[in-house]
Order: sequence, then C-alpha cells, then structure tokens
Amino acid sequence: MPSIENLSGWGNYDQRKCLTKYLNSSSALRHWVTSNGDSFIARGFGRSYGDAAINSTGHVLHQCYRNRFLVFDEASGKLICEAGVSLADIISVFLPRGWFLPTTPGTKFVSVGGAIAADVHGKNHHVDGSWGKFVQSFELLLPNGEVKHCSRIQNQDLFRSTIGGMGLTGIILTAEIQLIPVKTAWVKVDYKRTKDLNDTFAIFAKDAAKYRYSVAWIDCVSKGKSMGRSVCMFGNDADKKEVPNLYRQTPLSVTPKRNKTVLFDFPNWVLNPLSTKVFNFLYYAGNKNCTKLVDYDSFFYPLDSILNWNRIYGTRGFVQYQAFLPPKNAEKGYRKILEQITKAGFASFLAVFKSCGSGREGLLSFLDEGYTLALDLPNTGENLQALSRELDKIVIENEGRLYLAKDALTDSTSFAQMYPQLPEFKLVKAKIDPRQQIISEQARRLKIVEEK
Ligand SMILES: Cc1cc2nc3c(=O)[nH]c(=O)nc-3n(C[C@H](O)[C@H](O)[C@H](O)COP(=O)(O)OP(=O)(O)OC[C@H]3O[C@@H](n4cnc5c(N)ncnc54)[C@H](O)[C@@H]3O)c2cc1C
Repeated sequence: MPSIENLSGWGNYDQRKCLTKYLNSSSALRHWVTSNGDSFIARGFGRSYGDAAINSTGHVLHQCYRNRFLVFDEASGKLICEAGVSLADIISVFLPRGWFLPTTPGTKFVSVGGAIAADVHGKNHHVDGSWGKFVQSFELLLPNGEVKHCSRIQNQDLFRSTIGGMGLTGIILTAEIQLIPVKTAWVKVDYKRTKDLNDTFAIFAKDAAKYRYSVAWIDCVSKGKSMGRSVCMFGNDADKKEVPNLYRQTPLSVTPKRNKTVLFDFPNWVLNPLSTKVFNFLYYAGNKNCTKLVDYDSFFYPLDSILNWNRIYGTRGFVQYQAFLPPKNAEKGYRKILEQITKAGFASFLAVFKSCGSGREGLLSFLDEGYTLALDLPNTGENLQALSRELDKIVIENEGRLYLAKDALTDSTSFAQMYPQLPEFKLVKAKIDPRQQIISEQARRLKIVEEK
C-alpha cells in the first residue's frame, strides 16, 4: 500500500500531499512500474529546492533505500553503486582510502541519482565541470519496464537527456562514477575581501584560474558604492606537509563535528531585512584577507553542520533563485539583479557566487562558461512571484538561465527561452515515455511534460 506524505522541496515552498512508495530493490521498482499505470517521479533526499521531486496526482518513488555500493576498483577509482547512495556515504567510505568526489554541491545529503538528474556542480566547475562529466554510465529503468545501459557510446540520446533531465526520462537504478584521488582531507584556502561588485569580478578574472576551488559570498544587502562587496574563497587541495600537526599521521581523516539541529519552524519574522543586514555586516567584517587550512567538511559543506536549517525560514518557506550568466553580460546582469532585489524590498540571507567552465553535459544542464549567483529569498507570496518574474526578464535579456534544481517559480515561456535544447529533450522523452507517465510538479508548471 502506498503512504500519503506531505512533501515539498528543501525550500518548503510548495507543499503537496503525495502518494509515496519506498521500494528497496530494482526488481521491486521494475515490477511496480510495469504493473501500475499511474504517473510517478523519483525522489532522492529532497534537496532540490522547489517542486522537482514531487507529484501530487500520481506517485513519488523514494530512492534512498536502494543504497548499496556494488563495485569499487581501488586502482582506478571507479565506483558502481545504486542511485540512492548519498554523497555523504561515498565520502565516509572512500575518503579514508584516498578517494573523493570529483565535484560536490554545497550539501553532502544528496543522492547519486539526484546528482545525475540535476547535473550538480561545485566550487571547481571552472576547472573540472559538472557531475555528469564524471558519470561513465548508468542503468535507466524506463516506464515500459526496459532497463537501458546508457553511456557516451550506448544510448547516447538517453544519456544526454538524463544528465540534468530532472528524473523525467526514467529511474536511474545504478551508476558508474569516477572518483578522484586525494592526498589529504584538507583544503588550503585564500580568503580575499573585495570592496564592490566590480572588484569581485576583477579578482575572479585574475585569480580563479589559479585555484581548483573558487567561490564568493556576496553581501547583497549593502548598497551604493559597496554594492556586491564579497568575501572570496580560493582553494587548492592541501598536501600532506600542509596538514595541521595533529593530523599529519592521518591526513585523510578529520574529527567529526557535532551537528546542531533546528528542531522546529522558526517564527516567520525571524529572518527579516534587519536580521539579514546584521548577518551580512558581521560576515563581511569577520572575514579578513588571510590563508587558512580548512577541513573538507567545513569547506564544502558549511551549511550541513546545522541540520534542518531550512526551518529557520519558518512555515512560509523560501526559494533559491540561482541564475547563470555568460561572461560578456555577467557583471551588468548581476548588478541589475541585485538592484531589483533591493528595489523590491527583499534581502537575501545567503548569496553565493561561482565561476564556471565551458561545456554542458546534458541537454538541460545548467552551467556553461560564465558565472552563477544563488540567492535565498523568503516566501512573501505575491511580492516574491512578482520579483521572480522581473529577475527572469533580466536573466533572459542577458542570455542566461535558471537552475532547475533550485527553481520553484519560473513560467514555461521563460523556461523555454532559457533552454533552447528543450525541443530535443522533448523528442527523446516522447520516444521513451509516450504516455507521459513520468512527471513532477515542476515538469507540469514548466510544460516540459504536457499531459493529454
Ligand atoms: C544546502 C544545499 C546546497 C546545495 N548546493 C548545491 C550546489 O552547490 N550545486 C548544485 O548543483 N546543487 C546544489 N544543491 C542542490 C542539490 O544538489 C540538487 O537539488 C540535487 O539534485 C539534490 O539531490 P537529491 O538526492 O536530494 O534529489 P531530489 O531533490 O530528491 O530530486 C532532485 C531531482 O532528481 C531526480 N532524481 C532523484 N533520484 C533519482 C533517480 N534515482 N533516478 C532519476 N531521477 C532521480 C528527481 O526526480 C528530481 O527531479 C544544494 C541543495 C541544498 C539543500
């Protein structure tokens, strides 16, 4: 029997009652898909922010129990695992053996299936590209029960549609991933403060290519001359001799931290423009130019140390607006975006800026050469929707696009303008899913799937 669960994305923005199923083997999934004519969407750890992993008119199929490691080749770092394995599991088993993720999003509580479906990126996109680049192959369960082996050689169209395809081409059963060798679990990070947006772009242009990891936190509350001032963090994997003394003998391990947990939804007023301004002021003031050795967990996953931190936004929830812009338009486009947010009376608690390299792995993959900026915005109802429409216009004018893993509000027309390869994606989808059985709320809203 299916259960009924109230589900949403990480932003708790659009909550829906969904019929859910936990099927812990590929054969059980296959049996369910072929014997049940209902619509469905796969769900990993629900870390996409909007409505990509919910379906209120059919089923949501949880994948997190299919989480076995199947094969690991110690010589090459090739890992084959079920798609419900989390990035946290991979790190805890393979980092002590000298292998790490080739790239990682800002949380490790993400499944391998979710990472492929969103073609996730990390702080090294400008050097290494996105997750899809390190996926050698995967097994994909189609709605008719067939299992297809997809790679750059076999079933290429399915491979390119599934990477970044937000679960709409089938259920990823297993995947072969290339891990990368590391000597330590530490990153040597140079912190550099900038005085405004122009300075932030200048320092990225000058320095980012010298480092494997580059990211900036932008103070998006400050206005006028200091608008866009940032704390930039540029890092490289640390050598054994750079590791703190205490860890020299065990450079691949770090002391586990005691995570804090937000146990209840904060009142909606806690995150307001004033508290956001104070946080932004203190963060900027507290981070002077310096070099630090930072353990992988603190560097890649600072937010994971507070479990359920999304509850700080209260029951109203929030969205994350993440836009990519190409180099020629990035500075003027992001300036306009920051101005528009201030004009609309919003303040983003967190604003994360990254530089990106060229080459999109999937038809609906997000990043290409340029920059990306992610902004958290509280749900204030119609105001937020109006702001999102204005921001979409700026993104389209500047030849950019939004990230599907974060999107909760865009409309189908804007989406089609941002993703010119959508018709190609739809052709592949129509071939393998003629009854349009695989569908999410996001796919409905964006008309990626049009129900008959
Ligand atoms: C704090 C935080 C920081 C983040 N930072 C980043 C970042 O830096 N970079 C980045 O790229 N992303 C980032 N993300 C987004 C996150 O990496 C993606 O949304 C990712 O897809 C979430 O994986 P999940 O397992 O939770 O999948 P879900 O959110 O459950 O699902 C996401 C999509 O994957 C599909 N899917 C899941 N499992 C399967 C499967 N087995 N087969 C087929 N489809 C499947 C779903 O249908 C859905 O469309 C962040 C999210 C959070 C909460």
